[in-house]
Amino acid sequence: MEELIIIGGGLAGSEAAWQAAKRGIAVRLYEMRPVKATPAHQTAALAEIVCSNSLGSLLLSRPSGFLIAELQKMGSLLIECALENRIPAGKALAVDRDAFSNSVQERLQSMPNIEIIRKEVRKIPSKPAILASGPLTSPALARSLKKFTHQNNLFFYDAVAPIIEADSINMKVAYWGSRYGKGTKTGGDYINCPFNMLAEYERFVSELLTAEKVKLKNFEKDISKGVRGGKGKFFEACLPIEVMAARGIKTLSFGPLRPVGLRNPHTDCRPQAVVQLRQDNQAATLFNMVGFQTNLTYAEQKRVFRMIPGLENAEFVRYGQMHRNTYIYAPDVLHPTLQSRANPNLFIAGQLAGVEGYLANIATGMLAGINAARYINGDPLLTLPATSMLGALCAYITTPNLESFQPMKTNFSLIPPLEEFIKNKEERFLALSNRGLQDLSAYLREQHEPKKI
Ligand code: FAD
Repeated sequence: MEELIIIGGGLAGSEAAWQAAKRGIAVRLYEMRPVKATPAHQTAALAEIVCSNSLGSLLLSRPSGFLIAELQKMGSLLIECALENRIPAGKALAVDRDAFSNSVQERLQSMPNIEIIRKEVRKIPSKPAILASGPLTSPALARSLKKFTHQNNLFFYDAVAPIIEADSINMKVAYWGSRYGKGTKTGGDYINCPFNMLAEYERFVSELLTAEKVKLKNFEKDISKGVRGGKGKFFEACLPIEVMAARGIKTLSFGPLRPVGLRNPHTDCRPQAVVQLRQDNQAATLFNMVGFQTNLTYAEQKRVFRMIPGLENAEFVRYGQMHRNTYIYAPDVLHPTLQSRANPNLFIAGQLAGVEGYLANIATGMLAGINAARYINGDPLLTLPATSMLGALCAYITTPNLESFQPMKTNFSLIPPLEEFIKNKEERFLALSNRGLQDLSAYLREQHEPKKI
């Protein structure tokens, strides 16, 4: 029987092991706990859920519900175990975390062709392997990965600015433009949100300073001070916006919010300060807030950032955050099949691949497990349809981005629009999910998937 090494028995690695084993591959699953701890895990169990016990809404009109339906369609072990160990939480799929990981562990142990080995892997193997060692990958393995990705493609901190849905920006207030008109596109590369009055800028800064912040874990404290160099590296060197604001009322208007060269065409005046929004995906349905990496709580980000002119009704597909997170620059390193561009024996899944959130980690683990098995068996690899949530996520993380690359979680803005626009959001999202599920079924049938289950 052909052999596959999987490094990391977390969410992605456990799902990957199941999928590959079900396809007749001999799996050696390496998990370093309890021999070596991570700063966040509390137990020795496989598929430990480190924080919130909710996997998100089950409604098909929510991104999480859409992805859960895809995972079910493709035979996900972890979703099966989550549903078996579900606890009451309205429409959300919340689990008893210990019962959930025990179920996953028992099911993996019951497979004769999975060997679970409690050992740290310190080097990328040369044999077929899946790397799923997560956001807290051990330092030795991270060093090996850094060499493999040629230094510049591995990051240790997530310094993420919020991302907003384009159609929720009020363009009667905001405007297109590049500083001094020096953009690459006619009309400008950025959407600019102007503080026309000094008082409104000052009110915003004052709310920013008093807003509630997230309590960082001990191992994350250096991030809030903006430490870089040494072992750490921010993708965009940056301080949290609220830390910058605390240095003085004018720090932002002389820094990331400087208005120079950004005259407002609505008023024909230079604003007091300007928040710039940068296009985040090729379809221009997502925009990130330049310089707005932050430790504010999600609720406070929504409240305070909606004070920015033009963002009164902004819909956030992801909030800003700053935390420890090891991840690669997937556009250079991976194909949408999650196979390495440089070494076809290697697949990367989970948080390490640049996706974010429990479900996306399980889902990429599933695809890597299936594709690694197909690779070993000599079958063509799956590139899932762009209309499916998992296909869209894999396309997003592996497409060279415009200027910035930030880990991404599931959201509807990644999915190509419907042929006919549906105004009602709930109905539109439901239609997108139904179309994606149909396309996924057709594609899987075409690829004779699942095989040998
Ligand atoms: P993990 O589940 O972390 O699995 C990786 C495994 O690899 C671990 O078990 C680790 O021990 C093992 N490992 C590491 N290095 C090695 C090595 N060299 N050899 C062998 N084994 C190794 N997401 C959410 O959706 N909701 C949340 O509330 C949430 N909270 C989070 C809180 C924290 C503190 C962190 C760090 C992340 C959080 N996330 C959350 C993000 C993410 O969804 C989880 O981290 C998720 O568990 C990642 O899945 P994974 O499979 O990529 O990695």
